[in-house]
Amino acid sequence: MKFVSSLCVIGPSVIVRLAGFQVEVSPPLSLNPDVPTHVIAVANQKGGVGKTTTAVNLAACLAAAGRRVLLFDLDPQANATSGLGLEKIEGASCYRALLDDSPLLEKIQPTAFENLQIIPSEVDLCGADIDLARAEDHLLRVQRALKPVIESGRFDVILMDCAPSLGVLTLNSFAAAHSLLVPLQCEYYALEGISMITRLLNQLRDGGINPGLKLIGVVMTMYDARTKLSQQVVSEVRQHFGELVFETTIPRTTRLAEAPSFGKPIIHYDKYSAGAAAYEVLAQELARRLDQ
Ligand code: ATP
Ligand code: MG
Repeated sequence: MKFVSSLCVIGPSVIVRLAGFQVEVSPPLSLNPDVPTHVIAVANQKGGVGKTTTAVNLAACLAAAGRRVLLFDLDPQANATSGLGLEKIEGASCYRALLDDSPLLEKIQPTAFENLQIIPSEVDLCGADIDLARAEDHLLRVQRALKPVIESGRFDVILMDCAPSLGVLTLNSFAAAHSLLVPLQCEYYALEGISMITRLLNQLRDGGINPGLKLIGVVMTMYDARTKLSQQVVSEVRQHFGELVFETTIPRTTRLAEAPSFGKPIIHYDKYSAGAAAYEVLAQELARRLDQ
């Protein structure tokens, strides 16, 4: 997968250098602040930290609590898609809508779960980073495609599951989001990588690409109460991010790891498990932050 090798914000435009070539991006379309749909990018460029598990389970818990939720799978690995029990179908992803402005609304599919819909991913998204990098306004394609979805008023929350990179698709999701939610794994190198995300967040905000973008919270994942390391990492991250860290930590449990292979979020796979309880409480915390 290609990575953006540098991103430089100059006044209202952004210059992105990607694999040796440079593209200038003009000012953004603004999101309509009157429409109460919260768009959240679940992101961390580190792999395997619990982004997809968090996006899928938060989406399911918010939907079960009566919010109308759209899970937008922006990762070519399509783990959120299969985690909700959907097949990877050629042509089903947002790829064409991002490239040729065909309606993203038509890509929305129902899931087996009430109030929860999805824009699935599939492998064609692998090419999107490269194809989008060549297109005009290429950092604003997701923002532009999402505008009618937001304006349709069909969703209270849109959760975007990002790939483990800061490539063009992920930057698109940052440009389209109201806020970022960052899962951090309870491990020694947890904080590594988040500095890049906070720097990018500031660049997108200060450069006028997405002036309202904020960090809605950091969630600690795969917490193992038996180890001192987990406790130390959580306390270090809390020192760094203070109240931005959600009070709820997600435990490391086998049930959470198993659920995707049954195509179910944890609350539908094992409703009374520790993982289900944790994501339900996290969803309540998130909902309170969104309502503030
Ligand atoms: P990628 O960067 O590849 O997209 P990711 O950040 O989305 O990965 P996940 O796919 O959510 O991470 O999780 C990585 C692996 O860890 C998966 O096998 C998942 O089932 C497992 N996992 C995630 N959270 C937990 C947890 N709390 N307890 C046990 N296993 C977990
Ligand atoms: Mg993932």
